[in-house]
Formats: sequence, structure tokens, C-alpha cells
Amino acid sequence: MRRIGTIAFLILAALAAQGAPHRAAGEEAGATAKPAEATCDRAAFRLVIDVGHTPQVPGAKSARGLKEFDFNLRLAKLVEQQLVEAGFAKTVLLVTEGPALLSLARRVARADALHPDLLLSIHHDSVPDSFLEKWEYNGEKHSFSDRFKGHSLFVSYGNRDRKGSLLFARLLGLALKSRGLAYTPHYTEKFMGRRRRELIDPEAGVYRYDQLVVLMYPHMPAVLLEAGSIINRDEELAMGTPERQAAISAAVLEAVEGFCKERRPVPPERMAHPNAPAKARLRPAAARAPASAAKPQ
Ligand SMILES: [Zn+2]
Repeated sequence: MRRIGTIAFLILAALAAQGAPHRAAGEEAGATAKPAEATCDRAAFRLVIDVGHTPQVPGAKSARGLKEFDFNLRLAKLVEQQLVEAGFAKTVLLVTEGPALLSLARRVARADALHPDLLLSIHHDSVPDSFLEKWEYNGEKHSFSDRFKGHSLFVSYGNRDRKGSLLFARLLGLALKSRGLAYTPHYTEKFMGRRRRELIDPEAGVYRYDQLVVLMYPHMPAVLLEAGSIINRDEELAMGTPERQAAISAAVLEAVEGFCKERRPVPPERMAHPNAPAKARLRPAAARAPASAAKPQ
């Protein structure tokens, strides 16, 4: 009786062992029955976040006298943190030093050396000098212009991957739009003079800016984001809030994810084994802003 029991057990065990792969195969067949959606290979994708300007030449001055570089750095750091937490571990923050022209050459060389999939340059906008008005804030005289507000996106047709640059700019523009953020249309106006630009994607707010060094020369798709106007008194305050910064970071993450799906999808052999990459893929993006973002400028 005992031997029969043992044999019965062995047969059952063998059947169970055979059944397991059958079940797995069945699940896989079920999964491939509907077309598998492309999934981004987050761990392999590299974004370089270029912080606009340098500590020595800090770019525009805000309506309250703060430096554009500090706005750029704070937002870029938040974007970097969100991306890394979402599984984009190869994200690099690019901070350059020194005078303007030299720093431009340096940032392009450093970006190229990193062989990224994408470059995003982060800036905050101002206006031509002719629009500036004077006001007093905290007992000091400052310049401002409340005439324009909103973000804007720029790509260069001189970039060797124009298609990629346009794709990411569009994805980012639409992601910002879906969060209730409107781009500024004023770059098309005649009064912008030499800063006038062609609006090539009116739905997403993407302008063409061919000669910009940081967009034209890098060997990867490149997009410049003017995240908002800090010469506008209300928008300067909005850009300083963790809520606005979190919304922009979330939009960048969404756009990078979309771009990565196109450009660096998970290879099919890894799609068949969802356990390995699934953790990184499915990890939700952290919604919290870092403590530093809450500090007033
Ligand atoms: Zn700038």
C-alpha cells in the first residue's frame, strides 16, 4: 500500500511539474493574443538634463531680481529626481561653469560624451528689453513685464535627429497642456524682432530655433524648454511653487516615457519574461516634491 502511495505521489508530482509550464505557456499565449504595447526600457534610456546658463553668467533676471540659473537648477534637479525614482537610473544632470560661449561648447561636448538618447535644456523666460517696466520690490528697483506668460518649446532643424527632436517636443508640449498649462504664442509676433520664431506645432507649442547651439550641435535629439516667464510678476511666483514644479516634472516624465517607448522599447525577449523588467516598468513615479523645492528663493 505504501509503495503504491509513493508511486501515486510521484505520478501526481510529475503531472504537476508538467502542468506548470503548460499553464505558463497558456498565459503567454493569452498575453500575445492582443498586440503587446511597446514598453519603455527605462533602465537603458538616458536623458541628459541641461541646466541653462552658468553660476557665473546666470541668464535672465526675474521680476524680483532672482537669477534664472537658480530657477533652472532647481527645476532640473526635481526632474532628475523624479526620473531616477521612476526607474530612469541613467539620467544625468548637466551643470556647466564659466562664460556663455565657452559653456555652450562645453555642454555640447559633455552631452555628446554621455551618448544619451535625448537632451532637454531647461530655461526660464524673459522679454526683449523694450518691454521692460520698472517697479519697486522690497525697497529695490526691478524690471518686469506682465505682458506675456506661459512656457515654450524649441527645436532646431539643424539637429541631425530632427524627427526625434520634434517628437519629444510634441510629447512634452501635450503633457504640459494636459496639466492645464498653456504655452505662450508671442514668439510668432513681429515685435519679437530677431527673437521671432516659427510656430511649427501649434497644438503642442513647439517653435523652430535652428541656430541655437545647444539644439543644433548635439548628436542626439534635443529640445529646449522655457518653463515659464520669470519676468512676469505673477508667473515668477507660480514658478516658485512646489505645485507648478511638480506639474512640469510630471509632464517631463510622461513625455520621456512616451519617447522612450518609441526609441528604446523593451526587447521582445525580455517582454516574454515580465518578472524581470516589470518592477522598474510599473514602479509609479514619486509624486512628492523634494524638501528643497519648498524653500523660498
Ligand atoms: Zn535662459
